[in-house]
Amino acid sequence: MSRAENSAWWERARRVMPGGVNSPVRSFQAVDGDPVFFARAAGSRFTGEDGRGYVDYCQSWGPLILGHADPDVVTAVRDAVAEGMSFGAPSRREVLLAEAVLERVPIFDQIRFTSSGTEAVMSAIRVARGFTGRDLVVKFEGCYHGHADSLLVEAGSGLATFGTPSSGGVPADFTRHTAVLPLDDEPALDRFFREHGDEVAALIIEPVPANAGLLVQTPEFLRRCRELTAHHGALLIFDEVISGFRVGPGGAALSLDIRPDLATYGKILGGGMPVGAFAGRGDILAAVSPLGPVYQAGTLSGNPVAMAAGLTTLEKTGRPGFYEELESKAALLERALAEAIRDSGVTARIVRVASLFWLTFQESAPRSFGSIETDMSAYRAFHRAMLSEGIYLAPSGYEVGFVSAAHSERDILATGEATRRALTRLAQEMTA
Ligand SMILES: *Cc1c(COP(=O)(O)O)cnc(C)c1O
Repeated sequence: MSRAENSAWWERARRVMPGGVNSPVRSFQAVDGDPVFFARAAGSRFTGEDGRGYVDYCQSWGPLILGHADPDVVTAVRDAVAEGMSFGAPSRREVLLAEAVLERVPIFDQIRFTSSGTEAVMSAIRVARGFTGRDLVVKFEGCYHGHADSLLVEAGSGLATFGTPSSGGVPADFTRHTAVLPLDDEPALDRFFREHGDEVAALIIEPVPANAGLLVQTPEFLRRCRELTAHHGALLIFDEVISGFRVGPGGAALSLDIRPDLATYGKILGGGMPVGAFAGRGDILAAVSPLGPVYQAGTLSGNPVAMAAGLTTLEKTGRPGFYEELESKAALLERALAEAIRDSGVTARIVRVASLFWLTFQESAPRSFGSIETDMSAYRAFHRAMLSEGIYLAPSGYEVGFVSAAHSERDILATGEATRRALTRLAQEMTA
């Protein structure tokens, strides 16, 4: 295996798939060079088709809170596969995972599983509209909620990366019922609800917006979202596809002590298998087919193999001390990166929420999409330097990093050292 082999795969990929990929940011279009093909991965690390080993902070974009190929998850998946790969009928692991989620997020009564986060959000929106009898949905600029038509409006990294505010192929009519507001702007939110509050079916927000950098919101802003929706008879949807089971066992809703009407999950919930879900109050979920008029379905929904991976992931994250240990690892990484930034003299900042982190080449941490520095040339150079150090970061400056339970103190300290070298080189290049 060699660099040549990696290039050969990349050439073949581009012949048979648009941009060589099945999801756009993977193409490395936002950074320099060719993508590394993953050959195999375990824990914090993977080996590329280029024959090199890397420490991975992308972790499949968030699902792998236990790291790659956790041995217990792998065993659970093997056991499930041996009993049948798909039933298309009720089976016990769906019940077990539903119970496990509702035990962690006891503010909800029921849950339905889908096969992706996109489907979960699309369905939750439909349920909100069906339940309220209203059409209008409010989202925030820079929040990504999957690629359902009506939500592809000013939607975060993949789109921000390519500089398009929304997607081709989506009729303007389809987004006519989607209003977009800026994050961290209470006056704009108040004004909108004063004028249109009674038409709003749902307000959807990532409580920890992590798809266009890490745009940490104040608890006051999120509480205002709750108050206004409640006051106007609209539903509040927390899109916890990233934050769920990441920022704490009960996601952002429980960490912040804010009770949304519905929440969507994915990523960690599937432990590396394709899973999404929406959960909520019983009276709302009663609107869903076959109980109610809102249609929602899936051939592979509740797939036993995917449920097995999710169950084991939740079981392991539910062990005493799990989140505390992850927090201390992430804090160690934050310190290491902050020191590297300081010592290099480069203008940059590390933003962190639990085990999510974002390195941005600007002075202060932005809280809204509009205040993100759009010149990503420093990130491109940094990404390339880190890759050559054997550290794999997300291939776009708009993407966050993920610390997993499998990252060791050694990995983290080595990452700090690599960052120091990369940033020092960057500082030299910038002054050269
Ligand atoms: C990843 C993500 C989605 C979409 O999930 P997919 O499984 O990629 O369809 C939706 N919302 C948020 C907040 C996400 O991070």
